[in-house]
Amino acid sequence: MKISHILYSGLLVMALGSCSEQPKQAPVEPQKEEKPADQKIIGEDGKLYQSEQFADLRVLHYYIPQWDSLSAKQKELVYYLYEAGLAGRDIMWDQNCKHNIAVRHALENIYTTYQGDKNADGWKNLELYLKQIWAHNGIHHHYNSNKLTPAFTEAYFDEVAKATNTVISADAKRAIFDPTYLAMKVESDVSKDLVATSAVNFYEGVTSAEVDEYYSKLRKPNDRSPLEYGLNSKLMKENGQLVEKKWMVGGMYSAAIEQVVMWLQKAESVAETPKQAAALRSLIEYYKTGDLLKWANFNISWTKATEGDIDFIQGYVETYNDPLGMRGSYESIVEIKDFEASQRMKVMMDNAQWFEDNSSTAKEHKKDKVVGITYNIVNVAGESGDASPQTPIGVNLPNANWIRAAHGSKSVSLGNIEESYEKASGSSLLAEFAHDEEEIRMAKEHGGVAGKLHTAMHEVIGHASGKINDGVGQPRETLKNYASTIEEGRADLVALYFIMDPKLVELGLMPSLEVGKAEYDSYLRNGLLVQLRRVPEGKDLEEAHMRNRAWISNWLLEKGKADGSIAEVNRDGKLYYDIKDYDKMRANVGELLKEVQRITSEGDFNAAAALADNYGKKVDQAIRKQVIDRAAKFNIAPFNAMVNPQLVAVKDEAGNIIDVKVTYPENFTEQMLGYGKNYSFLPLEN
Ligand SMILES: [Zn+2]
Repeated sequence: MKISHILYSGLLVMALGSCSEQPKQAPVEPQKEEKPADQKIIGEDGKLYQSEQFADLRVLHYYIPQWDSLSAKQKELVYYLYEAGLAGRDIMWDQNCKHNIAVRHALENIYTTYQGDKNADGWKNLELYLKQIWAHNGIHHHYNSNKLTPAFTEAYFDEVAKATNTVISADAKRAIFDPTYLAMKVESDVSKDLVATSAVNFYEGVTSAEVDEYYSKLRKPNDRSPLEYGLNSKLMKENGQLVEKKWMVGGMYSAAIEQVVMWLQKAESVAETPKQAAALRSLIEYYKTGDLLKWANFNISWTKATEGDIDFIQGYVETYNDPLGMRGSYESIVEIKDFEASQRMKVMMDNAQWFEDNSSTAKEHKKDKVVGITYNIVNVAGESGDASPQTPIGVNLPNANWIRAAHGSKSVSLGNIEESYEKASGSSLLAEFAHDEEEIRMAKEHGGVAGKLHTAMHEVIGHASGKINDGVGQPRETLKNYASTIEEGRADLVALYFIMDPKLVELGLMPSLEVGKAEYDSYLRNGLLVQLRRVPEGKDLEEAHMRNRAWISNWLLEKGKADGSIAEVNRDGKLYYDIKDYDKMRANVGELLKEVQRITSEGDFNAAAALADNYGKKVDQAIRKQVIDRAAKFNIAPFNAMVNPQLVAVKDEAGNIIDVKVTYPENFTEQMLGYGKNYSFLPLEN
């Protein structure tokens, strides 16, 4: 499971809210933290944290602290893992839509070779569109799934394509210009056939019913260690027969996977520990065979490899991009442990059983023994695929529940990524959407701690908690398209429940319950108001995390209005939410957590659907517009793209790596063009 930044940081949440229109220009009252006109943000440490803003995106930058405290061999390991990650970048592009690679190649060719007028509107709009597809890994918005709209005409495209001898297939061109063709990356409107109407390249010529039938035959009833069926393949029809095209060496995406494997083999040769080496070997075996049992074995050995300073996430991991929640998007994250920060959070791991025993869930849905939760704060050295340029701030893996139950799981917060978001944020949105001065004070005083604690609890005691009843399938089988949003909501609710518990003060994790109060304020502000900035006009909520924040907030609001714990205030035509009774609200959080755990434990599809659809789907368009109007004057784009550090190997005369240097590119376009040049291993169509 990945955690996106928008949910977890008190102040941060405010600064990073939501929308997809370009915010209006010209702030009415300039704020003191307002960005200078060139949209660059330089931190107090003199580092560049934001380099530009375009469309609905800000381009942010992160840094690797204490790089030089790593040994030469560790740097070499990081370098190999980093290269392995980038080698698979094209896989994610093709998975997102089968025309993505062709569209990118055509536009990059035009962009780098065109000699004509670069001040024309057409050119500027083409450049903007190219930057958008770089940021979203394809022609659809990564977050709301809608196709990006080019502001240049097809005639202009034809003109510059001709001038640069750029060739593009008719279908790929249609994918750019015909808004009805492949309109949604991931369709979530269950009245439609989700498989047939989603643009992701996971299925071809098949219906949802056929997919269900295909996998129900593979799944064994009462299997206590089910494989992640469908995780590493495209399912399509050939000669009337359903076939899985496996993403493996010798299969689909082979050219890129061979490169990934080559780098992983080098990494294995310099692994820090035997367990880490064993994990890398199973991963390589899995890429070579496509065997999901080997993937399970990799996950088990990876979960056990906890002793090194370096770790990685690599493979087809998260299934958010599959409307049926089975197929994994390629991703890579290379991590360096932050020992000091991790030590501070260890107390939470040590008390994991206490949290399980004392949560509001029913006794029969609790784990008797919470196993091996490993939580670390890490710094990222490089990301690719699903994790880049849009990066999570936390990850909890593996995803298979039976592995988690038997072998534990690893949770990480991405410390330097969070740091970057924090350095690039201001408090203008907080002031606009907070109900009163007290709320602003608490957010300023405690928002940082609240956000970090929420992240840690979501990961360590949230996803790791609870058990599935005997004989009930995994959530992705029972709750289907609602599995992701229910699971993310469940982990959020655990965090919300305990952030108002005096136990956290007793454990020294926070100074007072005001931290919890700041988090409750922030959660409602975001879930009911600020995140609506991210919703396109006329649309409903699509993305799993946005939906879970909405159904939790709306459910709590409905309860809160009835029992007086939350007041909805309309002041000068502006909506605010004022929490009147935090303890009462916490009791409601506990009640909802209990129900959501029941839904998960029992696999209650109808209850999951009712909760997510009734409370976390519909957007009140008038409120959405109000939120966008209120936020517009601050000119803060709601989405972010992260520029990666660049690792460069220093070699001796014999070609051996003797050192690895880190540089920090300041220009998003240059990084993207460099990736396109150096890591294009796949053909235009796969
Ligand atoms: Zn999560």
